[in-house]
Amino acid sequence: MIEFAVLASGSKANCCYVSDGTTRLLVDCGLSAKQIALRLESIGVEADSIDGILISHEHEDHVRGARVFIKRHNTKMYCNRPTLARAKQLAEVPRENINFFDTGMPFLLGALQIDHFSVDHDAADPVAFSISMGDKKISIVTDLGQATSLMYAKIKDSNALVLETNHDHDLLVEAPYPWELKQRIKSRKGHLSNDSAKEIMRRLSSSEDCRVEVAIAAHISENSNTEELALAALREGWDAKKSSPQFLAGSVKYASELMCLR
Ligand SMILES: [Zn+2]
Ligand SMILES: [Zn+2]
Repeated sequence: MIEFAVLASGSKANCCYVSDGTTRLLVDCGLSAKQIALRLESIGVEADSIDGILISHEHEDHVRGARVFIKRHNTKMYCNRPTLARAKQLAEVPRENINFFDTGMPFLLGALQIDHFSVDHDAADPVAFSISMGDKKISIVTDLGQATSLMYAKIKDSNALVLETNHDHDLLVEAPYPWELKQRIKSRKGHLSNDSAKEIMRRLSSSEDCRVEVAIAAHISENSNTEELALAALREGWDAKKSSPQFLAGSVKYASELMCLR
């Protein structure tokens, strides 16, 4: 069994909760520590009961509340060395709370298998996570500029998929950003567009390994996307011959309900 909730997802803050009922983890910590505690409370989880925080990369929207949360709730943090070296916000996390992983080397936290893999993104050593327990798996794949065969291999048998649908091409062109930022977002080290996510859904859902039960549109930009467009992309990509998963959109404003894979 795996239970999970998207506590926040978007260009401004990202944080997911994943647990097997015994080990309780956060993936990224982009809200304030106070907000994370409140949103955990909303799904019936005490902040003090969080065992560990997995950090995908050092961008502010993924680490903002980590230092305070870790000190306040005496939580362990798991990241790779280049991420810690680059992350100013994590510099004061007590050394005894930090555990390093080597990118690509899976490890166990309790009964949860933590798999992680490199993604193309403009950070020191960014990773995405696939967390499994028995035959249930959740993959959290945001902050990447392009899909890779490594990514497909890691996420193809996921039961829950939190997938980046960052921007709509046309809305990004019109968005009030400088040209350089638009180029960065669109680049191979930037963020997945709705069209890229649609293609990923198409490829995943046409594979025999596919067993997606829940697909969550994630890291949706407030300026160059809408929940409707992001969800439509995931739905349109889905192979109609397969029974359809539940499609949901993550939000920065509120936590999702607690969901369970059995
Ligand atoms: Zn991000
Ligand atoms: Zn990022």
